[in-house]
Amino acid sequence: MSHIAYIGLGSNLENPVQQLLTALTELDQLDQCQLIAQSSLYSSKPVGPQDQPDFVNAVAKLQTELTPLVLLDRLQALEQSHRRIRERHWGPRTLDLDLLLYDDDFITNPRLTVPHAHMHERGFVLLPLQEISPEISIPGKGLVTEILHYIGTDDLQLLTVTE
Ligand code: ATP
Ligand code: CA
Ligand code: CA
Repeated sequence: MSHIAYIGLGSNLENPVQQLLTALTELDQLDQCQLIAQSSLYSSKPVGPQDQPDFVNAVAKLQTELTPLVLLDRLQALEQSHRRIRERHWGPRTLDLDLLLYDDDFITNPRLTVPHAHMHERGFVLLPLQEISPEISIPGKGLVTEILHYIGTDDLQLLTVTE
């Protein structure tokens, strides 16, 4: 069975733009996964501690045969392969891959909550998500366009990437 998964990507260390471009290619190359769409890259102010570089964020849409937990395993392996440094909660990192949505499923597992528990509060997730899927809703929360309307996108900047 084929499923649609949305992945939130973030980086604020060691050339974040390149980290994300590489990660997008790697997502497409994952076994039983195909990259259907990718957003532009956006820069955002860090969540939590402010004494760290701005983040670069994007969202990817995947078609996958993997179950949610196996997909999470693959995402965590990719994070590790980017030598993710994890020193403190919400601190700087080379690559963060969050499973935002998996079809319209609700998943509550010690390792995995879907829809991602904070996605509806984060412009840096919702704006790139809206860019690739303008009509999309977050199960239990509503239309992304409407949520974005009241949380705003003031602290986000569209990045122009020249490769
Ligand atoms: P936030 O979840 O607020 O974005 P974070 O991305 O910094 O914070 P991590 O340290 O990357 O948090 O992840 C902590 C744990 O969250 C992971 O080990 C994973 O098991 C769990 N987790 C729960 N739900 C999800 C999800 N939807 N996507 C990714 N990880 C999740
Ligand atoms: Ca994460
Ligand atoms: Ca995260």
